[in-house]
Amino acid sequence: MREINVKWITQKVRELCMEANTDLGEDVLQAFDRAIEKEESPLGVEILKELKENARIAKGENVPICQDTGFAIVFVELGQEVHLVGGNVNEAIHEGVRQGYRDGYLRKSICHPFTRANTGDNTPAIIHIEVVPGDKVKIVVAPKGGGSENMSRVTMLTPSDGVEGIKRYVVQRVKESGSNPCPPTIVGVGIGGTFEQAALLAKKSLLRPLGSKNSDPELDQLELGILTEINKLGIGPQGLGGRTTSLAVHILMMPCHIASFPLAVNIQCHAQRHKEVVI
Ligand code: SF4
Repeated sequence: MREINVKWITQKVRELCMEANTDLGEDVLQAFDRAIEKEESPLGVEILKELKENARIAKGENVPICQDTGFAIVFVELGQEVHLVGGNVNEAIHEGVRQGYRDGYLRKSICHPFTRANTGDNTPAIIHIEVVPGDKVKIVVAPKGGGSENMSRVTMLTPSDGVEGIKRYVVQRVKESGSNPCPPTIVGVGIGGTFEQAALLAKKSLLRPLGSKNSDPELDQLELGILTEINKLGIGPQGLGGRTTSLAVHILMMPCHIASFPLAVNIQCHAQRHKEVVI
């Protein structure tokens, strides 16, 4: 059994919050480049170039990619051979978020739902802990902006809706979202499981690197088919017209109940931020 003190988790979460908010992944920058090559709208091309420049400045000057530095979503893969010592792991993560948002001068965006009083330190984090084989701890911090999260939905299709029902719903969701989620977006889709599991699948699908293929050939084709339909909508970068409404569709799927067909769409804006570390 390997012992890990939770103070390391606090320290890593602190660093990841700051890194994720200022350093856009290379995969996203490459997706911008591919979109610039294909985009037909001159204004769309200009916006995509601005997004690249924005990311360059953010990294160079260590400032946030976007003013909305998001809800801190934290995924933890906890090896079952690890014994965490030194305190409560959830508290350690919240403390890491508290320190990261304070020390990185990141906007605190979390509030009481009724009074709208700000919690003041961007906590609580949203924490998903999964126990896995091994003696390591993997931590992913994925700040999620409000604009794109608001456009996300969970629905319960009927089994007879089939694959066509999925396509229709996802494309319609992106169409109705228009410019609200700051396109070009990445569309996370969760299929199957239960009501809450579908939403988690959709969110987790966004962690896959942009430009990578789905390991399931059937889902890979479905992703490409939906993306093609989305990019015919003409919403374009920042909603000002063009072919690049979405950079990618990512799908995760699992079995569901014989009476159910859960579907979740988690829309991610162009500020596709997530950083990870393995302890
Ligand atoms: S949706 Fe994304 S890009 Fe738009 S304001 Fe929110 S975090 Fe920023």
